[in-house]
Amino acid sequence: MIDMHVHTRRCRHARGSVQDVLAVARQRGLRYLGFAEHLPLPALLLDQDPRAASYAMPESELADYVAEVSAVAEDGQEPGPRVLLGVEADLHPGNEAHVRRLVSSAPFDFVLGSVHFLDGWAFDDPELLDGYDRWDADRLWTRYFEDLAAAAASGIADAIAHPDLPKKFGCSPRTDPRELYEAFAEAVADAGVAVEVSTAGLRKPCAEIYPAPDLLAALNRRGVPVTIGSDAHAPEEVGYAYEAAVAALTDAGYREAVVIVGREIKEVPL
Ligand code: ZN
Ligand code: FE
Ligand code: FE
Ligand code: ZN
Repeated sequence: MIDMHVHTRRCRHARGSVQDVLAVARQRGLRYLGFAEHLPLPALLLDQDPRAASYAMPESELADYVAEVSAVAEDGQEPGPRVLLGVEADLHPGNEAHVRRLVSSAPFDFVLGSVHFLDGWAFDDPELLDGYDRWDADRLWTRYFEDLAAAAASGIADAIAHPDLPKKFGCSPRTDPRELYEAFAEAVADAGVAVEVSTAGLRKPCAEIYPAPDLLAALNRRGVPVTIGSDAHAPEEVGYAYEAAVAALTDAGYREAVVIVGREIKEVPL
């Protein structure tokens, strides 16, 4: 079992410490455990949006996070998963320089790239659902996948997280999304970036893995490698619904997933 996307209380909206998460991962027999804490947000966004302080760890704690995860990664206690040091970076337009600076400040094993903001609106925040009334669904989906393709093309991230996140609360495009899926699959394949299969969607109103089966199939046709993550925000969510992720991958034609170690993709059989 692998889980390349877990959070801790450091991001201010998750529960549990690194040790709490690791204890569950040991108990469940994980082979790889990737910590992917939310990378600190830029000062400008924190100034403009009072909610943003609870979206990510503060910059003053980045070094502590790196030290804490590195310590357990080097500990190598058996039996235990191989622990990887990662981050989940917000890759909306204009944020690239900030992310590059922070990502180059520590020896990360991997960087997940995410789009959680559209024009400053955190569309995955359950307290901000009124934003969906202000966006036309088709425009939202088109713009989201444009930003996601740009995130992949930036070369900053090793893998793109939860690739169809706008479905979280049930928003779907009025028109067939398969054209968007194909264009995104082509963009990530060209960028040589992996994509995450996330079981977090199963815990949300959409009740579906990210990405949707049609998108996963499009990624498989282009030979895009995939990681698996729970996006755990509590220790008990580590490895969440792993069998469902494997089933989705198998249905889409995948025979292996990947982990990312020292910024290098490494295949692991399903
Ligand atoms: Zn989070
Ligand atoms: Fe995310
Ligand atoms: Fe996450
Ligand atoms: Zn996430």
